[in-house]
Amino acid sequence: AEEVGGGDKEVVREYFNSTGFERWRKIYGETDEVNRVQKDIRLGHAKTVENAMLMLTEEGSLAGVTVCDAGCGTGSLSIPLAKEGAIVSASDISAAMVAEAEMKAKQQLPPENLPKFEVNDLESLSGKYNTVVCLDVLIHYPQNKADGMIAHLASLAEKRVILSFAPKTIYYDILKRIGELFPGPSKATRAYLHSEADVERALRKVGWKISKRGLTTTQFYFSRLIEAVPM
Ligand code: SAM
Repeated sequence: AEEVGGGDKEVVREYFNSTGFERWRKIYGETDEVNRVQKDIRLGHAKTVENAMLMLTEEGSLAGVTVCDAGCGTGSLSIPLAKEGAIVSASDISAAMVAEAEMKAKQQLPPENLPKFEVNDLESLSGKYNTVVCLDVLIHYPQNKADGMIAHLASLAEKRVILSFAPKTIYYDILKRIGELFPGPSKATRAYLHSEADVERALRKVGWKISKRGLTTTQFYFSRLIEAVPM
């Protein structure tokens, strides 16, 4: 049954501190210990990160720009952002993810460029940032929670919000339903797809409009990328 209370979030936290952490650390890593499907997802996700970096840098240099990376995972975006000179605040609901991201960042960045890491669910984030990014996190939010999550992210941003999510089209909706009928061992959490119209409406409600769109698809990975700015 779909959880409307805090249940979903606890399940997600627990998953990304245990089996989910192991699974995604491998997918987001560089080692060969991935199967064909995971390798395809790794490739797709890398393209999303690359496209997000293009969107972020085409408006000008990131040097000295404050960026909040909400749900940073293992730091796939936080680290390249910091390499470009952004002042990065990276947070995730999973302590295991944050520890992995911090370890990786320390290997690749000089101490003065390190992101500020924090274990925090994104609803508890406060402050103001030039840019807020949130990649592939909305998949953990049912529609009834997505609007609030998007509104909160927008409230933290001064200039732009960059979001990616698994797009809900009739075709993928059917695939997902089939997946639910035959849950595999790795399906430890529910995946929620979102329609672009719903995301656009949620942004509009709080005074933001979509300014750029991108789409990444590989065989097993689908992600719609959007940039939003104040209306
Ligand atoms: N954004 C990263 C990237 O693209 O590499 C990680 C994406 S991963 C599929 C989803 C991440 O969202 C996980 O690290 C998970 O712990 C985090 N997450 C899920 N729900 C969250 C919440 N409510 N607040 C903060 N992080 C959350």
